[in-house]
Amino acid sequence: MASSGSSIFSSVVAEVDGVGIVEHVSEFYFPDESYCGLEHSSKHRCPGHDRVPARRVAWGGANTGRRFFGCPLDLPDECHWVVWVDPPPPLHDALAFEYLHAELEQSWMRSHKMQKQNMELLKKNLALKKKLRERDEMLLVLALLFVGMCVVVFLVL
Ligand SMILES: [Zn+2]
Repeated sequence: MASSGSSIFSSVVAEVDGVGIVEHVSEFYFPDESYCGLEHSSKHRCPGHDRVPARRVAWGGANTGRRFFGCPLDLPDECHWVVWVDPPPPLHDALAFEYLHAELEQSWMRSHKMQKQNMELLKKNLALKKKLRERDEMLLVLALLFVGMCVVVFLVL
């Protein structure tokens, strides 16, 4: 889950207005009960919908845990706009979060790949079980034929 605007190398500061730094980027966020709802005291309105901004906590990359105001709508309707409430993290924290999220992303990809492999193995397992069942049925038919022939031979003799 990489955030397009969270890279410490790509942040574009568009405007400083005294309340916070406004960036025309989109941030991923996670639900945080201690910081949620609408920020009615803000003089900002989201540029795409002219709505009172929502309180968000960033998730992903260098800004993880940083509070901001953003569009109150959810993706894909959300407009790309952020007002930071907290200052940027110290560089070593930002780098640590970047590293952690890169590792997390790698883990998710490995997990996804393993789930796919697991599904393939399940399909192969089902196919093998079907073959086994068909072979058992064939053996049963052959056994019945053999018994039938033995009975016929016994009756003839
Ligand atoms: Zn909006």
